[in-house]
Amino acid sequence: MKGKQYSGGCLCGHIRFTAHGVAANPHSCSCSNCQKHSGAPSLCWVEFPRDAVEWTGTGGTPAVYRSSDYSSRSFCPHCGSTLGAIDDEPTVALVTGSFDDGDLPELRPVSHSYVDGCAAWWKIEGAV
Ligand SMILES: [Zn+2]
Ligand SMILES: [Zn+2]
Repeated sequence: MKGKQYSGGCLCGHIRFTAHGVAANPHSCSCSNCQKHSGAPSLCWVEFPRDAVEWTGTGGTPAVYRSSDYSSRSFCPHCGSTLGAIDDEPTVALVTGSFDDGDLPELRPVSHSYVDGCAAWWKIEGAV
C-alpha cells in the first residue's frame, strides 16, 4: 500500500489528481505569487513527493507557468483553477481548496508564510 490517499481536482474536472502518503508542511501563504495566481488573499498548501502525485483526469498534467527561479505554478488550461506548484525539486505542492475533502485535520495550516502580505481584515475576529 502507498498509505493514505487524497483526491482532488479543478473546477471543471479536466485536471484530477490522486496523492498518496503524508500531506507534509501544511501552511498558508500570502506571498504576492499566491495572491496573484489565485485571486485570494491567502492560499493553503500541503506538499507531496513528486512521485506520490498522479494526474488522473482527462487533461493529464496541469498547465504550468514559470513563477520563480525554482518553481512553476500549475493550473487547469480549461477553467483556470489554481491547483498548486510544481517545483524543480521533486516536490509537488497542492492547494487544499482543490481537495475533494478539504476538511481533514492534517490539512490544517500550522504556519502562515508571508503573513505581512495578508490583508488585516482576513482574520475575522469573533467569527464563528
Ligand atoms: Zn478545469
Ligand atoms: Zn505563496
